[in-house]
This record gives sequence, C-alpha cells and structure tokens, in this order.
Amino acid sequence: MVETTERDGATWYRCEGCGMMFDDEADAEQHEQNCDEEDPSYIQ
Ligand SMILES: [Zn+2]
Repeated sequence: MVETTERDGATWYRCEGCGMMFDDEADAEQHEQNCDEEDPSYIQ
C-alpha cells in the first residue's frame, strides 16, 4: 500500500512493496497496482 512521508516540507508517497518514492499520489497508486513486489525474481 502507499505510505505518505513528510520530507523537506513536502509530502511524498512511498510504495511499501519496493520503497520507491513519488511526489504524486496518483503516480504512487498507479505504480503500486503494477508493482512486482511479490515476484522478487523480477527485480533481480
Ligand atoms: Zn513498488
């Protein structure tokens, strides 16, 4: 799921699956839907 993080006065959205950060919530949610966190072989 998308996790919100405050950094330098701005809000960031982080994918809990892979840790990727986004400055746009819609981008984070879209990434999350396509995130391959459950298939580690894809990252390697
Ligand atoms: Zn991800």
